[in-house]
Order: sequence, then C-alpha cells, then structure tokens
Amino acid sequence: MTFNALLATQADNKITTSLTKLSDADLMPGDVTIAVDYSTINYKDGLAMTGRLPIIQTFPLIPGIDFAGTVVESSYSGIAVGDKVLQNGWALSQTHHGGYAQRARVRGEWLTKLPSAFTTRDAMAIGTAGYTAMLSVLALEHGGLTPSSGDIIVTGAGGGVGSIAVAILSNLGYRVIASTGRLEETDYLKSLGASEVIDRATLSNPGAPIATERWAGAVDSVGSHTIANVIAQTKYLGVVACCGLAQGLDLPGSMLPFILRNITLAGIDSVNAPSKMRDLAWSRLARDLDVGKLRTTVKEIPLADTPNYAQAILDGKVRGRTVVNVNA
Ligand code: NDP
Repeated sequence: MTFNALLATQADNKITTSLTKLSDADLMPGDVTIAVDYSTINYKDGLAMTGRLPIIQTFPLIPGIDFAGTVVESSYSGIAVGDKVLQNGWALSQTHHGGYAQRARVRGEWLTKLPSAFTTRDAMAIGTAGYTAMLSVLALEHGGLTPSSGDIIVTGAGGGVGSIAVAILSNLGYRVIASTGRLEETDYLKSLGASEVIDRATLSNPGAPIATERWAGAVDSVGSHTIANVIAQTKYLGVVACCGLAQGLDLPGSMLPFILRNITLAGIDSVNAPSKMRDLAWSRLARDLDVGKLRTTVKEIPLADTPNYAQAILDGKVRGRTVVNVNA
C-alpha cells in the first residue's frame, strides 16, 4: 500500500519539497504507526522547508514538526490500535520523518494522547505554536503572575503562537495587550480577547535600557529589540516568557530591569520538553482554550499546497493557524 507524502531533498544547498508516493517500508524505525489526519504549518516548518535555518539534518526527509491521527500499529505499552494521538516536535523534521504524510512511524514515548476536548483537526489548529503558547502561560504562572498582577503583552500577536496566547490569557481573565504589525487585524485580535492592540513599531527599534513600567508579564514570539523593549517596560517582579525569534535571534538589552526590578526571563522550549510538561500543557489547553475562538484562527489547506506557505509564514503573512489536511 502506498501513501502520499511531501519529501524534502537537497541539491546544491537548495531544498526542494515535492509530493510523492511512499510505502510503510520507507518509514523510519519506531514502535507506533499512525494514520495521520492533519498536520500544520509553524514558523519552524517555514525555516525547515526554505532552508533558512538547518532544521532538516538528513535528506531525503518528510518535513512537518507536528501531526495528529489514529494509531494503526503499536508495540508500545500504553498506546493501542485505535488511540487518537498527536506529536509536537522531538526529532520530527530534524532527523525523523515528520507530519506531512498520510502515515507516520515514531517512538511511542514521543506521542501525546489526544485530549477528549479536541478533534485531531483542533489538535493541529493548536499545533506546536499553540502548545508553545500554553508553555509560555505556564511559565508566567510559575513566576507567580495572576490576572490581578496587571496587563500582559503578547508580541507577534497576529501569528500562531501570539493568536493562541491572546485567546488563552483572555480566557483566564488577564487583560491582554496585543502587539502587531498588522493593525488591520485589530478586530480579529479583539475577537480573540485582546483588550488593546498596539503597533509593533513602538517596540521594534533600539530603546532605553529601562523605561516606564507598563506590563506585569509578556509572551514574546519576536525577540531582538522587541523583547529588549518589552523587558525594559516590565513591572517589578514581572515575568517575560521568551519563545520566539521572528524579528531576530539577538537579545540587545540591559541588565538593569533584572537587577532593579526583579524581573524573570523564562525560556520556552517546546521541542524537547519532557512528557510531563507536555501532558500538563495539553490538559491546560483542553481546559483554558476556547475551541470556538481557536477555530476562528484556522485556515485549512491540502498537503500539496504546504510548500507555498513556507516563505509566507517567514514573511509574517500568515494569520493565525494553518492546518494541513494530509488526506486532501
Ligand atoms: P508566525 O509566523 O505565525 O508568527 C510570527 C509573528 O511575528 C508574525 O505573524 C508577526 O506578527 C510577527 N513578526 C514577523 N516578523 C516580524 C518582525 N520582523 N518584527 C516583529 N514582528 C514580526 O510564527 P509562529 O507563531 O509559528 O512562531 C513564532 C515564533 O515562535 C517563531 O520565531 C518560532 O520559531 C517560535 N517558536 C518557538 C518555539 C519554541 O519551542 N520555543 C515553538 C514554536 C514557535 P504580527 O503580524 O502580528 O506583527
């Protein structure tokens, strides 16, 4: 039996991704085989498929850092045929075939059981972006923030991580300030729960080492001058969850906010987060994310269209979340 897959190959330092037919014999070793329903497009998938960063470490490889589907074979204790499962990260699209295919074979320990609140499509509407947004919210809570602490700023709010962070935080009762370069998306961001929408240009240039206190916390998916300004404007005992690099990898800030205002900078890694942390994040997503709001962020595309979105997501042109229907 053959199935559809997108396969990335490399020649002359250029990556090409094309639709092809593979069979189970082409899959990599693992103790669970999954009939995939949906995958998704994250910023990291854009980096991988364009080759802007060396995410894919072995060729040919099926990209896609996420998938959700139904188990069709399993020799892994605790995962049975018929179980609905999902995977975010681990080795997918780095050294192991990823989610842009109708079949996947992986190590059982990488899988998360699908929470009953979600369909496999919802799980990929959340994807790594939404699960990272939840890890970021958990970091704010771990740092002691509650809705009474004050405003939370979400940068890159129109993107995947940002949109879902806005939706979760507002559902939890926080007053959320959404920072975006797309002010035309103000109504969309307000519909997700943002109380205020600000122009990202107010944060994206070099700023003062420390500035007037504005927010109790932040979910930052942008990095560079944006996170430096966000830190400089964070209140005493505030927490900044640092999860992304859409503006840049640099951190051009000052020590002053840390040593004068007791601020915590919390790093967020979704790829190798331990299973316990993933299970907590997914159970909190099931509790704290309004599925109705989530579905307003989603666009669905067929597998063959996926490579067309790789550059678009890097250019900040993709709003919210894009779900890949691998069977369409
Ligand atoms: P998206 O492309 O969906 O969102 C990124 C958003 O950042 C854009 O929509 C845009 O929002 C904003 N942005 C883009 N370029 C710039 C720029 N030059 N300056 C300022 N803002 C910009 O990506 P994702 O939400 O999937 O991922 C966001 C970031 O988080 C990425 O860097 C990704 O690598 C990282 N990430 C990290 C993870 C981890 O484990 N730590 C896991 C998942 C993602 P707007 O138009 O609203 O301004």
